[in-house]
Amino acid sequence: MMKTFVRETILNLKGYETKNTPYVYKLDANEGKTLFFSDQATSEREDFNRYPDNEATVLCEVMGKFLGVPTENIVAGNGSSEMIELIMKTFIDTGDGVLSFTPSFSMYEVFTNIYSGRFFSVPSRRDFSLDVDALIAKANEIKPKVILLCNPNNPTGAFLTEAEIKKVIEETNAIIVVDEAYIEFSDGSFVNQVNQYENVIVLRTVSKAFGLASIRLGFMVANKEVINIIKKVKPPYNLNSLSQKYGIEALQKTEKMSRYVLEIKQEREKLYQEMKKLNIEVYPSQANFLFFKSTLVDLAERLQEKGILIRQFSGDLAWYYRVTIGEKEENSAFLNGVKEMVSHASS
Ligand code: PMP
Repeated sequence: MMKTFVRETILNLKGYETKNTPYVYKLDANEGKTLFFSDQATSEREDFNRYPDNEATVLCEVMGKFLGVPTENIVAGNGSSEMIELIMKTFIDTGDGVLSFTPSFSMYEVFTNIYSGRFFSVPSRRDFSLDVDALIAKANEIKPKVILLCNPNNPTGAFLTEAEIKKVIEETNAIIVVDEAYIEFSDGSFVNQVNQYENVIVLRTVSKAFGLASIRLGFMVANKEVINIIKKVKPPYNLNSLSQKYGIEALQKTEKMSRYVLEIKQEREKLYQEMKKLNIEVYPSQANFLFFKSTLVDLAERLQEKGILIRQFSGDLAWYYRVTIGEKEENSAFLNGVKEMVSHASS
């Protein structure tokens, strides 16, 4: 069934494959000689003149251990951004439908348009919770090839339960992508379910909870059949050797990440309560940010004058904002900035 969603041109492609043949003289890949950083390589694989491991094998093994998923179910790449694009490349032909909620991660629509698909979205409820029944109804009307569920949702922090995701899978007929960029800050993941379904893809990243946005590392987790098709589409050597190296190191030290996540959850709760006290319309969040509405005039600009950057929305979301939960000091600076404006506004 899953194969019926794959673009026809891709089904018969042969992906780029590499061999790991032992050698004395490696003259098969047109690589040059190491001229730079020769002191920094700690293994053959990291040597700057060599191509990285095409499959990021060790990294995927380590990620597999962390997630409790077999390595064969994982592909690594340049952030979950590359994974979203690979999904579009694989499944979306001109005019094919992609469905998501709104508001959600803006790149879903951008990538859909790049691949000439048609993007549809189902509005969140007034309290920004996600209406799964409305999404299912829309899916059955427009028959999208891909449904993207951002969980927790960016920018609102709204969360879909496992039962809700299962309902979407069972009552629609599409590739279901669960984008778990912020999942560590919430209470559950769908990643262990990938082998129960032939049409479910989970995306993960080290950009958020692992604090490693700079190395551009993300993962796709899905059943083997999907993974094998995605590997046909993935560019050769897509993930550079430094990102592989740093990723392996970080994913072996997940206690650090877990401690950080606990801190952020506490800070999130504190900031949420403080904002409520200021009568700000702030929404419950399962991610490392808070989404809120404020009628304070020029809120973002005035915070920016103090060097504090928050995300401001426009159009249908005029007066809505998203603030990342940062370090204690950063959160206090934000809160104090808002408090000052509230007291000015009411005096
Ligand atoms: N998905 C969501 C929901 C995001 O918010 C982001 C980044 N803002 C991404 C994916 C992309 O993250 P990255 O490419 O850094 O993994």
